[in-house]
Amino acid sequence: MINVTVWNEYFHERKDEKIGKIYPKGIHGAIAEMLGRDEEFNIRTATLDMPEHGLTDEVLENTDVLIWWGHIKHGDVSEEVAEKVKKRVLDGMGLIVLHSGHLSKPFVKLMGTVCRSKWRENDEKERIWVIEPSHPIADGLPEYIEIEEEETYGERFEIPAPDELVFISWFSGGEVFRSGCCYKRGLGKVFYFRPGHEGYPIYYREDIIKILSNAVRWAKATNFTRPTLGHYEAIENVKDKFEGKSEAERTHANLGKS
Ligand code: ZN
Repeated sequence: MINVTVWNEYFHERKDEKIGKIYPKGIHGAIAEMLGRDEEFNIRTATLDMPEHGLTDEVLENTDVLIWWGHIKHGDVSEEVAEKVKKRVLDGMGLIVLHSGHLSKPFVKLMGTVCRSKWRENDEKERIWVIEPSHPIADGLPEYIEIEEEETYGERFEIPAPDELVFISWFSGGEVFRSGCCYKRGLGKVFYFRPGHEGYPIYYREDIIKILSNAVRWAKATNFTRPTLGHYEAIENVKDKFEGKSEAERTHANLGKS
């Protein structure tokens, strides 16, 4: 089983009737329901209003992959929770950041750049090109998919160069955008996926859910051995230059090193 937590600020759906009609159970509810059809996924949801935004130590410890949707309430996410999410990613948790989540605190902290871009809400077409067909996140996809109406994002997108770029979007207004970006951060993996403006029902689409399912499987940590960090005894038979000396002398010699 893969433990997936779908996090949403859950604001637009409750404040805007039109958006509430598209996502009556919230964006998190729709994603959880669609992904939940896969028996390999054990899914829970968490929202901004919950204590610790629903991301307690216990929840984070038991999350293999966290999916994040946020937009207007990035500033209300506590520094403490954002730091904990970042720390868990560095420790091996997968993170999938959706759409306007590019400006969320955990993503910006993990990228180290401002992460802004151009945008325009004008019901334009988005054509998402698969540019790495052999990548696990592109598994089972055609050469491109089209979303008839979406919010437009445009380069330059102020992110560090992705380790792997799986998708590039073209919009009918003329912009292009790096819309499927993979990163490794510490022991964890991060995937940014662009589509998903709250005013369009795209999280009900099978192709979009396929991409999210693929991304969950990709982002989940493999069964790796945790590396030793810090002082380490030699594997090879080398002379110990502190042999016969006190532990204090050895420790002192290592001060200032890590
Ligand atoms: Zn948007």
